[in-house]
Amino acid sequence: MRGHILISHTHWDHIQGIPFFAPLFVSGNEWDIYGPKGLGQSLRETLAGQMRYTYFPVTLDQCGAKIRYHDLVEGTFDIDDIKVSTHYLNHPALTLGYRLEADGVAVVYCCDHEPYSRMLATSPGNFTGQDLRYAKFLNRADLLIHDAQYTAEEYPAKVGWGHSSIEYVVNLGHYAEVRRIALTHHDPLRDDDAIDRLVANVRAKLRQNASSLDVFAAAEGQIVEVAPSPTKGPARRAGEFQAEMPIEPALANWSVLLGIGDAKMAAALSEAVRAEGICAKFFSDMDEARTLIAKDRPSLVILEHDPPRINGMEMCHAIRQQENDRDHQLPVVMVAAQEDPDSGAAAGVTDWLIKPFTDAYARTKIRAWALRVACQWMRGAIPKDEQQRLASLRALRILDTGPEERFDRITRLASALFDAPIALVSLVDENRQWFKSCYGLNVKETSRDAAFCAHVVYNREPMIVPDTFQDKRFADNPLVINEPRIRFYAGCPLILHDGACIGTLCVIDTRPRPQEVSDVACLRDLADLVVQEIQHNISLRRH
Ligand SMILES: [Zn+2]
Ligand SMILES: [Zn+2]
Repeated sequence: MRGHILISHTHWDHIQGIPFFAPLFVSGNEWDIYGPKGLGQSLRETLAGQMRYTYFPVTLDQCGAKIRYHDLVEGTFDIDDIKVSTHYLNHPALTLGYRLEADGVAVVYCCDHEPYSRMLATSPGNFTGQDLRYAKFLNRADLLIHDAQYTAEEYPAKVGWGHSSIEYVVNLGHYAEVRRIALTHHDPLRDDDAIDRLVANVRAKLRQNASSLDVFAAAEGQIVEVAPSPTKGPARRAGEFQAEMPIEPALANWSVLLGIGDAKMAAALSEAVRAEGICAKFFSDMDEARTLIAKDRPSLVILEHDPPRINGMEMCHAIRQQENDRDHQLPVVMVAAQEDPDSGAAAGVTDWLIKPFTDAYARTKIRAWALRVACQWMRGAIPKDEQQRLASLRALRILDTGPEERFDRITRLASALFDAPIALVSLVDENRQWFKSCYGLNVKETSRDAAFCAHVVYNREPMIVPDTFQDKRFADNPLVINEPRIRFYAGCPLILHDGACIGTLCVIDTRPRPQEVSDVACLRDLADLVVQEIQHNISLRRH
């Protein structure tokens, strides 16, 4: 059995079935498990945590099946011929909604989610800001499976718990022109009859309004068939960049800018920011704020609005006036006693934090926003001939062998020729890049996800990045923000006689530098020398 499991978040009610899911224990099975990164640990670590021996006799690593884990951020990726888009939901944990598109139909799964504007949960209103962005993610879905734990009447006692009201979900479905809605995440205090009565009410209202929207309550074991709509326009794709992001994002190098009047709240919020390993910075006037934004590239601004003591709206407006890139606005979270969607939209407020709030709630919001901003760098794609390529690489029996002078002299030369501190012979293995020779670097390997060389292996062409900070693919790559702090990269592919591209010869600098065309020819010659040495291995073994 070969399968994929998409997890919205790792709250227990969403993962407790995993230890009892028999197909994970059958050897020969292969599973891919996808989910957002939890607070402070990877998806694999979180799932393994509930199967420690205090709780369960078999650990996750002892499962018979081969399991691959994928920590996700917001974006788009493919599973076979299914397009998967992810979207952060509003919940007190980092949570993703999934939109699956295949064969002309779109199915969206969103649990657990609370409207950003609490007004929308209790009465119909305009979708603006983050709520509008969310509605677009659902646009024209053929089936929307949505959290609908409360009624509008119950909701005011549950604000901040991260769940929706049934009324909100129906309005949302209408607005986003969804065809069918499966209400789910039913309140555990409701029995089946109570749920049936709620659905009957919704349907009666829809009939009154002559609506074609089909609403039902999802049930255990239910199978729903989805066919393409004959009238529907082209489906919309959400997100542009890759959703998979399997390594620790480098939040430590980011900062959150705080403009808070209340001293106690300022202390609590900066504590919440620091608990995430992010640096908290305060400013006293707008000039200072502008300087900090230009210099520190903060990932988030939190402002308080409580006039006349402090006017967050004015500050937000000033920040927006200074921005020239409308597509990449700095998220601004407004702390206030109540939300004001209209003035908020005019001032450019991204999200609200309504007083009073718990530390945990503030922390989740901060981390979710910081992650949304930070994780945009790209992984090198997997080449089409990956299996063949790996077979050729392994047949060389060169991986994990010791250093050899015949390779080291080439990296020494490359470093000297390019006046660069680092030169590598990097071999791109299934999940890592391993260095047969590394001059100027004290690391034997890094993950493939962060590897610049993985891009070269995919494109089979030399790649020069004059300044990583100016290149969206790499600006927040962990190898750029952390050691070795790559600012310049030039790599040439190593292509064997059988056509397999197994790695690169590359030079790296910690300073940006202008691109020079002649450099490529020189690097190509050195790469040919590396290939010659590697092919030498093969001919030696033959004779
Ligand atoms: Zn939850
Ligand atoms: Zn839940």
